[in-house]
Amino acid sequence: MPCTTRLDVGLVLFWSDFFDAALTLPFDVADVALAPPFAAAFAALCTVFLVLIAPPFSGFLVAFFVAFFVAITTAFYGDGPKIPSPSSKLVGNRSGKRIPPGGRLRYPRSSMNAPMNAESAQNRMVEEQLRRRDIHDAAVLDAMRRVPRHKFVPVSLESDAYLDMPLPIDEGQTISQPYIVALTAQALGLKPTDCVLEIGTGSGYAAAVLAELTKEVVTVERNPLLASQAEARLRALGYTNVTVIVGDGTLGFPDRAPYNGIAVTASGPRVPPSLAGQLAPGGRMVIPVGENAWAQELLLITRVVNAAGETEWREQNLGPVRFVPLIGKEGW
Ligand code: SAM
Repeated sequence: MPCTTRLDVGLVLFWSDFFDAALTLPFDVADVALAPPFAAAFAALCTVFLVLIAPPFSGFLVAFFVAFFVAITTAFYGDGPKIPSPSSKLVGNRSGKRIPPGGRLRYPRSSMNAPMNAESAQNRMVEEQLRRRDIHDAAVLDAMRRVPRHKFVPVSLESDAYLDMPLPIDEGQTISQPYIVALTAQALGLKPTDCVLEIGTGSGYAAAVLAELTKEVVTVERNPLLASQAEARLRALGYTNVTVIVGDGTLGFPDRAPYNGIAVTASGPRVPPSLAGQLAPGGRMVIPVGENAWAQELLLITRVVNAAGETEWREQNLGPVRFVPLIGKEGW
């Protein structure tokens, strides 16, 4: 059954604060994992420099640098939980960065294993991370308040579920930062009668948020394990309007097209033509696009029919982001 089409044509004029969007950058899981080695390498370099260049002061300065880095890493990074999967995981396979088997992620000490009152943490997340930025759509804020993010992260990370950052899930993937999920949902401008396609199910969290806002969500995940975990989670939470498909999401899911909204949660080098073709007239797509693994732009693409009756795809830049790669025929 094709989804209902939406004919309201036009762009949502939407401000995306550069610095808010850029908040995804320092909190990428790869950075979190690599922070201590970088700190150690920097400390080693400083030590070598001081011993070679400033011998008279080297003893004092080396001691100072060692104390400084110990203080910094102890204050800001506590021993994190083990990565759930026992095997070596790729965090963004184009960058080739690996977290070793049993490697530890570092998290702000303040958050570690703190007893969590999910409801108040969730309300605080909505107020501080979303409303204080540029998320003003009441339906989106309500949806973000309703979906229990702590049910979509590994058990060991439950107490970190409402932090302002993406978190690792199985298979070397991530659950997106809450702000990015809300920003995407808001930019799509969804209605309760809409049908939405999500590419990159991951944990299923964004699919649940979209399911709160629309009639139907089809979500495609290339990794069968993540797809089955997400499906089980969504069923357990009572989401009956989400269909999880295993496959190459760069090709979309033509069986249920056209879609009023498409949310792509992994970044490719360009907008996949198959996805653009599955947008309904007036439909919107949010997709991170970029030439490298480190920086992409979050684009809002709107399919419009111009005065001459021709189809056009208008583009608006929502700001800089960093996502895991979109791997497939029309991706990387
Ligand atoms: N939306 C997810 C959530 O709420 O947890 C986060 C998604 S994670 C950032 C990106 C996901 O895209 C990964 O699970 C990855 O396996 C998936 N992915 C990458 N390329 C894909 C493709 N061609 N088709 C479907 N899924 C893909």
